[in-house]
Amino acid sequence: MAAETRLFKCLSDNYGVLLHDPDTGATASIDAPEAAAVEQALQETGWKLTDILVTHHHADHTGGIEELKAKYKCRVVAPAKEAGKIPGVDETVAQGDSVSVGKLAGTVLETPGHTLGHITYWFPQDHLAFVGDTLFSIGCGRLLEGTPEMMWDSLKKLRDLPNETLVYCGHEYTAANIRFALSIDQQNPVLEARAAQVKQLLEEGEPTIPVTIGDEKLANPFLRADVPDLAVDIGMAGKPATEVFAEIRGRKDRF
Ligand SMILES: [Zn+2]
Repeated sequence: MAAETRLFKCLSDNYGVLLHDPDTGATASIDAPEAAAVEQALQETGWKLTDILVTHHHADHTGGIEELKAKYKCRVVAPAKEAGKIPGVDETVAQGDSVSVGKLAGTVLETPGHTLGHITYWFPQDHLAFVGDTLFSIGCGRLLEGTPEMMWDSLKKLRDLPNETLVYCGHEYTAANIRFALSIDQQNPVLEARAAQVKQLLEEGEPTIPVTIGDEKLANPFLRADVPDLAVDIGMAGKPATEVFAEIRGRKDRF
């Protein structure tokens, strides 16, 4: 049977998400921003926590791990390069490693930039990607540890996933990301359509994620640093994509 997911808000603007395998009952929390919100989602679904899959070491993604592990005895999987900064780790993973949740089969993609060891969990058969703070809807993570080159390579790796892949990210930043994107990419009808759709979702109190890779490719400026028209729009015609990406990221930081 196909994977099931449960998305929920926690902390100030974080998203938590549960990934559930109906065949075996296995359930993973992707990151653990805070124990109480994860437990509430478990109660609402009736699912039992078996795993926590950690994308990166930041406290707003790991703060609930110890409490949840003590209560549910769940397995904690974390990026090998950041395991020393994450509590309760049972298993470390790196690029290309397999991670299963019950019978759901995932693959680890290293996507550094926001942090140096950040990873994405991709479940190809279920068309799901849990990207943490690497890619956001119409945005990308801030470069707190890595370089623009590193982040651009990570984003290209995600952009290469099949178009139908549903992306779950770590924060609800979409409205602010769209305000910025419209300031640099003014002739993009796909972005304008997304802006209208997001406005309506937020007015209805609905989350703006997940999004598909196919839709993001057409509207997210951080995935379009190698599109010549966008480089022209920001006064960087003919420049290498890494430089265009660094310029866009810098402008967003100052926006
Ligand atoms: Zn983070």
